[in-house]
Amino acid sequence: MTQFHSVMAGLVPAIHAAKRKKSWMRGSNPRMTFAISICFFFLVACPALADVSLNGRIEQGALVLGQALPGSRLTLDGVPVMVGPDGRFALGFAREAGPQSQLLIEEPGQPVHTRQLSVAPRSWDIQRIEGLPERQVTPDPKTLERIKRENEWIVEARSHSLPQALFASGFLQPADGRISGVFGSQRILNGQARSAHSGVDFAAPVGAPVLAAADGLVALAEGDLFYTGQTVMIDHGLGVNTVYAHLSAISVKLGQRVAKGERIGSIGASGRATGPHLHWGLTVGQVKLDPMSALNFSQPPPAARP
Ligand SMILES: [Zn+2]
Repeated sequence: MTQFHSVMAGLVPAIHAAKRKKSWMRGSNPRMTFAISICFFFLVACPALADVSLNGRIEQGALVLGQALPGSRLTLDGVPVMVGPDGRFALGFAREAGPQSQLLIEEPGQPVHTRQLSVAPRSWDIQRIEGLPERQVTPDPKTLERIKRENEWIVEARSHSLPQALFASGFLQPADGRISGVFGSQRILNGQARSAHSGVDFAAPVGAPVLAAADGLVALAEGDLFYTGQTVMIDHGLGVNTVYAHLSAISVKLGQRVAKGERIGSIGASGRATGPHLHWGLTVGQVKLDPMSALNFSQPPPAARP
């Protein structure tokens, strides 16, 4: 049921109650009757009352899912938000977001209004990794060229997304294993400060299965990227994308449709890795998010549903 329908379903009994109250009071208090009539008029005539619903904790690094009226246009801090034909959308709050974000809402036939969102701060770990080959920590000019080119492929893969919420049935954790690296850590590699960790790492044996976190379309399947080695990216629609890195094998092809829980490859240590693990990343548009925030939208498998 859409937000609009759920709100309207809530309004119908209220309207009936207002009607009953109106006839009961007629003749006894004209001022009250007028006020109730005005309320009744606005309840029926103002779909703006439906507004926009947001689901998820609004904090740094978080994925938040939402529902607006179909046909709405939204902008988060000046960046357009993809809205599906059913009014669903996804928002991403960057590691550095906040303390306030502005959601500009343009609903069909309604004036534009802005919703101020408070973005809760998080604290970030410091992660020190020693023993990496020096060329992986401070790449030479030729390697920098390669990294730049590969990064363009990744940005390009994230810049096309299907216009529907393929993630509607929720997300699952794509690998079993000990969490060996969390999102957002400030990384110090061989003693040198580098960019923050952009995903979550699960340490697991080489060859263990890596699963699609949600339904989607394979947006990238590359065998040898400098940092991420054998890499798969999946487009889940409405700008939501997940990445699976350091694989030892890839079992899907570019453009292939995958289902949540389907095997897409195997755990490995390809690219810049000190041992076998899955690096799992999540983005909305180009904004890097904590993938663990997507697990707030996990749903039990069909057999477990009542
Ligand atoms: Zn990682």
